[in-house]
Amino acid sequence: MSSTVSMRISGAWDHTLHRAALSEALRSDGLIRSLALDGHGRMVKVTLTDRKSRALTPSSLRCLSHLPTINMTAGCVHGCAYCYIRGYSQYPGDGAVTVYRNTAEQVERELLSKIKRNKQLPLAVYFCPSSDAFMPVDEVLDQSYCTMALLLGHHGIGVQFVTKGAIPDRFFDLFAQHPDIVAGQVGLTALDESLNAAIEPGAAPPQQRLEDLARLVDIGVTTSLRADPLILGVTDGDDDLAALFTEVAKRGIRDVSASYLFLRPAITGSLRRSIHDAVLLRRILAPFDGVSRSTICCSGGAGTFHPVEVRRSQLDRVNRIAEQCGLQMRICGCKNSELTNSKCHLANLAATTHTKQQAPAQTHLW
Ligand code: SF4
Repeated sequence: MSSTVSMRISGAWDHTLHRAALSEALRSDGLIRSLALDGHGRMVKVTLTDRKSRALTPSSLRCLSHLPTINMTAGCVHGCAYCYIRGYSQYPGDGAVTVYRNTAEQVERELLSKIKRNKQLPLAVYFCPSSDAFMPVDEVLDQSYCTMALLLGHHGIGVQFVTKGAIPDRFFDLFAQHPDIVAGQVGLTALDESLNAAIEPGAAPPQQRLEDLARLVDIGVTTSLRADPLILGVTDGDDDLAALFTEVAKRGIRDVSASYLFLRPAITGSLRRSIHDAVLLRRILAPFDGVSRSTICCSGGAGTFHPVEVRRSQLDRVNRIAEQCGLQMRICGCKNSELTNSKCHLANLAATTHTKQQAPAQTHLW
């Protein structure tokens, strides 16, 4: 059974307003209505549904091959213009999100089933390969909180996440009780607010994400920056990257993973629909003119990547800037198999090994 609500959310990010409006609409379970938050708002359709399939699933990405992953939703209200989930069959469409409202219960059932069958529990769970646990929708945040609290508090299973959202206070309180088994990556590629608003319209503003990085470091959580996807000629200028990396390093971050934008037809279509500034759109797409599609090594997915020599030289340059700012950079081998076979630490094994169940065999469970 599912229920749907429609609402307007602001193009300008206001977390309190977003959440209050979304809650109001979601409480009107089954009722369809719109709430205008400002003059240039976007319509978002929220559907609540029960998850039918397993919540904990393996990932085809090599960087995540050793951990189960979980998505709290199909779709994502952050609405990043470059997001690859737009090509997925379960993608609910631009401006829509399907929330799995029974995720915590489902995870508990799956863990209890493992316990009953004397199977080992995972070392950690990764949130979320194709959504964001911290998008500003109360039902998503509630399910994320319940699921993470269940894993950390009841089972001693680590939590690893990547986010472009704002992390609410209650999560910091939860993570502070288990810092050794939590690892987080915050996605941020530019400090420019208007550029971020154009390419990541529903994500948290850069300053919010910087604050969250600092708070995670303060409570002892293993934390890194995810500078992915960098956009050639748009977000990767020397001065812009130096400013970003300097701000991040000031907050105690020492690691960054980086990769460049790649295209698939659904991503190109999304960029064309979402980026209204024709000059910016041209700057994003022009470097791909005449470039042919190739295959991502570990996932089997195909996409259009910048030529390997371009990625090599640009990532070398990004690496030099990161080093000058005191950051160690890792390249995602999933998207750069010709350059490296290393992992970008989407999931952080250093934190994983702090979990209570430390049997070495568990690192190969997933
Ligand atoms: S936050 Fe992640 S999942 Fe959500 S739209 Fe952006 S890239 Fe996609």
